[in-house]
This record gives sequence, structure tokens and C-alpha cells, in this order.
Amino acid sequence: MLLNMTELLTVAKENKFAVGAFNVADSNFLRVVIEAAEENDSPAIIAVHPTELDFTKDDFFQYALARVKNSKVPFVIHMDHGDNLASIMRAVHSGFSSVMIDGSLLPFEENIAVTKEVVDICSKIGVSVEGELGTIGSTGTSIEGGVTEVIYTDPADARRFVKETGIDTLAVAIGTAHGIYPKGVTPKLKMDVLEEIKRDTNIPLVLHGGSANPDEEIKKAVAIGIQKVNISSDYKYAFYKKCREILSSTELWDPNVINPECIEAAKKVVTEKMGLFNSKGKAQLYREAGQAPWRSEFL
Ligand SMILES: [Zn+2]
Repeated sequence: MLLNMTELLTVAKENKFAVGAFNVADSNFLRVVIEAAEENDSPAIIAVHPTELDFTKDDFFQYALARVKNSKVPFVIHMDHGDNLASIMRAVHSGFSSVMIDGSLLPFEENIAVTKEVVDICSKIGVSVEGELGTIGSTGTSIEGGVTEVIYTDPADARRFVKETGIDTLAVAIGTAHGIYPKGVTPKLKMDVLEEIKRDTNIPLVLHGGSANPDEEIKKAVAIGIQKVNISSDYKYAFYKKCREILSSTELWDPNVINPECIEAAKKVVTEKMGLFNSKGKAQLYREAGQAPWRSEFL
């Protein structure tokens, strides 16, 4: 079942769980996310960064959409860190039900203007929009980048940003970074900032850089009001770790022989995250509510 982000996260907000957004750049990782979601009866978000869309090419999403629409589990296909209107329109054209416009490095007023422009267009066709305020850190190991110093989201700015742009979800900076943290570095999340933003905005909030954070911190953030957690490095790392093991000890070359074990290793990480976000078994809620597929009015 394909939904947009509002449809997906409204249920998550009411039932106090979060949905994992997993970056996908090929059919192996698409299988990891979809199969893990189906095996755990959990909703999931298929996130695609503009550089990942450059790699998969647009036609890949004909396959992804067919697979998702034939599933009993709810999914969103979402552009992660859309950088301009062109990449947003490319995602919409490829059938995505949700986009993120990341104007977080722009001056505040410009971030409002570019985000509002995307909302004005996407809201007409039922595509959800995520904005970002403040900056996510970078560990230097991820395609998503980030900055060296985290600028925490200011709750007063967040209130104004949500009101003036009309976004559906907001990515907040509360101390996480993209990528895998170097040894000895433990991120510290500012829960008081999160609580204040939650109180002031009342829309589903998003945590980027969700890999390698202590489980207890993620759990606490979900309890306060994080409804979407982005995961990329953790599960990709598991896939290629297994892949390296196989390739260094055998002379295999057939993907259909090498990849199944790698897919299982990555699915294990995704399953753990679903447990952490409390989303296992929650697909049932959407079916019970008789949730119609996204844009069913056009079908
Ligand atoms: Zn991100």
C-alpha cells in the first residue's frame, strides 16, 4: 500500500510510534526494506537521496511502485534532502508520495521562501513535504553531508517556520549527525529542545542521522514526538560487511548466489530498528482503519 507521509505519520503520532526511513539505491536494498516490513508487519519509508536517484535512474521506481502497491503493508516513497525544485519535480514525476526540501543551510527567510514554494506546488497533488530547520551534523562518512558543528533548532523559529511554510513534517536538529560516529564519540541529544519544539508545532517531527545513536536516546525521542527516524549507514554497513566476508573467502560472482545472505544481514538491522521504533505489528492499524491507498481518488 502506498501512502503519503501525512497519512502514514498521523497514525504513528496517535499511537506513539515512529517509522524508519531507510535510504535505498538499488533493488537489493529495496528488497531489504520491503521484506523486513512485511515480515514484521511494520510500516516503512523508502527514502531516496537525489544522488541515489541519479544512480537508480527514474524508471527504477516503476518497479518500486508496483512492488509497494501490491503489499499489504503501508509504505511511503520519499525524496530525502531534495536540494532544489528540479530534484523535487523529478521525484514527483517518478511517482514519489513525499518529498523533503532541505533549505537548512540557507538564511532563515530564504529557507521559508523555498520551502513554501515546494509546499504550494506539492500540496495540490497530495505529495507531503518535509522541511528542515537547524543543521544536522556530519561524521564525514555519509553521502548526505551535514556540518561539523550542529546548530540546534530554535523552538521559536520552528513555530514560525511551520506556520509560514505549511509543511507536513519537520526535521529537527537536536544533536545527531549523518553517518557512523567515530570511535569514542557518543552523540548527546537535547531532549529539552525536542520537547519545546513538539509543544510549539504539533506536527510529526523527524530525526535525521539516526544510525549509531544509543537505543535509549532514540526510544526517549520517539516517546516525546519523533515519528520518523532516518536510517542509512547502519543497515548498508551490515549488507557490505557480509558481502566482504563472502567475497574474501570464495571466488563467487553470481549476485543471486552472493546477495541473499547480505540481504538477510541488512534485514536483521532493519528489524532491530523497527523494534526500537515500536513499529512492529503496526501495519495492522492502517488495515483496520480501512486506510485507502494514496491518491485513490485518481485511480
Ligand atoms: Zn538526513
